[in-house]
Amino acid sequence: MSETKKKVKKAATFSTERSKPNILVSGTPGVGKTTMCKKLCESVKTLKLINIGDFAKEHGCLDEWDDELQCHELNEDKVVDELEDIMTEGGVVVDHHATDFFPERWFDIVFVLRTDNTILYDRLTSRGYEGKKLENNIDCEIFQTILDESKESYKEEIVHELSSNNDSDIDSNVQRIVAWLDQWQKDNVS
Ligand code: ADP
Repeated sequence: MSETKKKVKKAATFSTERSKPNILVSGTPGVGKTTMCKKLCESVKTLKLINIGDFAKEHGCLDEWDDELQCHELNEDKVVDELEDIMTEGGVVVDHHATDFFPERWFDIVFVLRTDNTILYDRLTSRGYEGKKLENNIDCEIFQTILDESKESYKEEIVHELSSNNDSDIDSNVQRIVAWLDQWQKDNVS
């Protein structure tokens, strides 16, 4: 993120009163964000799930095709504008592989899913990733890029790393988030 953008983001940081918390679920593509978020939202029916890729497509927030990354560039400013009202309401789970362009004030907690490299390699190749795209994503996980980015973008104490190697990890991660939601309600809603 550019220095100017960081300053704007920081200036826009203030705490908001919400009756329900917002959750950001992030991590390298293939770590299991979408799978885990869907299970979470099946367990807690009041949550609203926003997958940023799908949301961007539906709301015309995609720019030109990026040949190297093999995907459309995301118009981050437009995504933020389009999402503002939804986030203000609260009770939203956002599923995305980047964390640094959202306003910090939007999220009460951030989970970064992590997967062992050999497992991730198999998941990404079976998804059809190859060449530079595969290499970039494996490097991203090896160098814990998303975890570091999240810790730079949000208060460290709200950023939590979760293992996502097998099915039982999905269940325990969902349980952990459900328990956190219950506690949040007790602490914040009288
Ligand atoms: P992401 O949203 O992070 O790109 P997905 O949820 O699409 O990842 O998962 C990628 C693939 O890995 C899917 O085939 C999914 O079924 C599988 N998967 C995800 N999480 C796990 C897990 N914890 N254990 C086993 N397989 C998983």
